Amino acid sequence: MNEDTIAAIATALGEGSIAVVRLSGADAINTAAKVFKSKQDLREVASHTVQYGWIVDPHNDNVLDEVLVTVMKGPRSFTAEDVVEISTHGGIVAVKSVLELVLRYGARIAEPGEFTKRAFLNGRIDLAQAEAVIDLIRSKSDRAFQVARKQADGALSKQIIPMRQELIELLAHVEVNIDYPEHDVEDLTSDYIRGTCSKILKQVNELLLKSNEGKILREGIVTVIAGRPNAGKSSLLNALARDNKAIVTDIPGTTRDIVEESVSLSGIPLRLMDTAGIRETSDKVEQIGVERSHDALIDADLILLVLNHHEPLHEDDRKLLKQLKDRSTIIVVNKIDLPGSLEIDEVRHDYNEERIVYLSAKDGNGIDELEKSVSGLFFSGAVDSGDITYVSNARHIALLHTTKKSLEDAVAATYESVPIDLIQIDITASWESLGEILGDAAGDSLLDQIFSQFCLGK
Ligand code: GDP
Ligand code: ZN
Repeated sequence: MNEDTIAAIATALGEGSIAVVRLSGADAINTAAKVFKSKQDLREVASHTVQYGWIVDPHNDNVLDEVLVTVMKGPRSFTAEDVVEISTHGGIVAVKSVLELVLRYGARIAEPGEFTKRAFLNGRIDLAQAEAVIDLIRSKSDRAFQVARKQADGALSKQIIPMRQELIELLAHVEVNIDYPEHDVEDLTSDYIRGTCSKILKQVNELLLKSNEGKILREGIVTVIAGRPNAGKSSLLNALARDNKAIVTDIPGTTRDIVEESVSLSGIPLRLMDTAGIRETSDKVEQIGVERSHDALIDADLILLVLNHHEPLHEDDRKLLKQLKDRSTIIVVNKIDLPGSLEIDEVRHDYNEERIVYLSAKDGNGIDELEKSVSGLFFSGAVDSGDITYVSNARHIALLHTTKKSLEDAVAATYESVPIDLIQIDITASWESLGEILGDAAGDSLLDQIFSQFCLGK
């Protein structure tokens, strides 16, 4: 355990209705007791109780604030140390003066992430969980929040621990075989290695598959709104973003640059890009816009191809329909509030009904259907099922790839009569890289790097 007691403001700075100063360490209760006036002596209260009172500077009896103080004795606290949380009135002045006071009476200011680091060092959480706390703080959408929440609860760790257990048992078996080669269990060992490594390889691959979804959840699905000038792309962006970042006009070809907007559809974050209308053009400035639109299309995770219900299909529409039919494309038939001239049967030829949505960007009818269609396309309902772990952290993904490589090498070696002690090296490597995800034997510099990403007070 750490000797010193740390303190920081644990809530976001700014005008909130309350703000929290958190202390952690062997002397947390003692330090808080020095500046807290109430009927109760903090040193004598039961753990996990809340006390009402005042923060008073013992030096001059100045009353700083009326507060609620929560005492959580270790190890049943976030850091596994004694923790005191002082809820002050919101506003920067009150909370800062309370923090300054506890710093004067024995605590020292916490480094960014130091509370979480202590939780890790005291064995309360593993490294994957600690990193999930970072993602939790940063997560932008509901769903990303839920994924991070799950990881913080140890969902990823729960999958990795049994994998490592199997690898350790395998290593023990291999060890015996190396020590007693006269037992002639070589073939058996080869099968055992291949079986176990293949099984774990499969699990690693599954985690990696989901990791892509994890990335999408955190960073947003790159969504390009494509279509001819005047189809209603900017209006759709606005309807989805519910504000007016893109310029909507009646003159074809005015969205010359790419406008980007982050929106959350049913909890799925989209990075929506409105592109210049795609059409053949001789206007130089417009040409640049059209080229950029084509580039954006290449990188898109999802494409919303907007067609104008009110007009017959144009040659440019037909080109786009053909070009995009093998991509993740949703056809948005816009302007259904107007009489239709669009040859929808021709569209249906290449796109099935689930990929076609009818709406009016103008009055908002059908936007719900689009939301459903988007979430259906990407998650096919899977995201709602409770037992899925997403790997969304770049360090975890890199380590899973390292593990994958070692396991593949081990499996391949079993087919090539490579000496067992060489295969053992690959198995050991895979066990170690999985361990790194959990923070086993993590070096100081790695820890510092991870925990420095936290904001103060976490
Ligand atoms: P873009 O060039 O594809 O971005 O098209 P805009 O969003 O700028 O829209 C072109 C014109 O169509 C504007 O006058 C819009 O008000 C109009 N418009 C867009 N969506 C609808 C719709 O659903 N119904 C009707 N009636 N007009 C629309
Ligand atoms: Zn536009």
